[in-house]
Amino acid sequence: EVANRSKSAFLANMSHEIRTPMNAILGFSQLLRRDPEATPKQRQQIETINRSGEHLLALINDILEMAKAEAGRTTLNPSAFDLHALIDDVEKMLRQRAEDKGLKLVVQRSAGLPRSVLADEGKLRQILLNLLSNALKFTQKGAVTLRLSAKPGKEQGFQLRAEVEDTGPGIAPEELARLFHPFEQAQAGRAGGTGTGLGLAISRGYARLMGGDITVKSRPGQGCVFSFDIALKETSPAAAVGKDQPRQVKGLKPGQP
Ligand code: ADP
Repeated sequence: EVANRSKSAFLANMSHEIRTPMNAILGFSQLLRRDPEATPKQRQQIETINRSGEHLLALINDILEMAKAEAGRTTLNPSAFDLHALIDDVEKMLRQRAEDKGLKLVVQRSAGLPRSVLADEGKLRQILLNLLSNALKFTQKGAVTLRLSAKPGKEQGFQLRAEVEDTGPGIAPEELARLFHPFEQAQAGRAGGTGTGLGLAISRGYARLMGGDITVKSRPGQGCVFSFDIALKETSPAAAVGKDQPRQVKGLKPGQP
């Protein structure tokens, strides 16, 4: 227990220490991206710095998140938001990646999917992004399909159900159970030589925290279907509007070094 606590504290401190300089790398590369004097080649190099920085930050955030989960410190932050806008947003983020690989990205929403809901938007977004990014990463040919539906529950509650289906390599039966353990990778992940094996462990933790779970069905050579459900509440439309759009770095605050 003591060793485990030290490990979590170490990971949390390290991740925090790394995030601070990452902030400078990402911030300044975003500023450079807007520099009108940059040549196309420089712009391309800045893009690479920025993309690699984003990737590194995502890894660090995952490690920090895992340390938090192991220390039992993950909490829910429910807020009112527009579920359909979140789905559009996730789709927009991934469409280019799908097109670059020649994959079809299909999003199907059943009628009756509520619009204004109360839930932890950040965690729901992360589960969707994790599952869809995996599907796009491991599939070389065919399609990735996201299906969403909702079943009414008690009071104004809903059980949201999402399925991510792909036409990728699938997963061997003996590997299925281990996938959700931290740092575990199956054949496709090991062969890819990237990734940490943290995404599914974090996503399952989030789904369980939100009153649901994630399961997977797969046969080697026939793709996978990852399904999850979470509980959410329907809320008034007024509560879910007026969120800030993501904004772009314009410059340093006057007087900053
Ligand atoms: P990572 O993607 O960083 O390796 P994850 O926890 O997200 O970690 O996934 C764990 C492993 O599960 C992956 O390494 C891969 O072997 C397997 N996996 C996940 N999603 C898929 C998928 N859609 N198709 C095939 N294998 C998958």
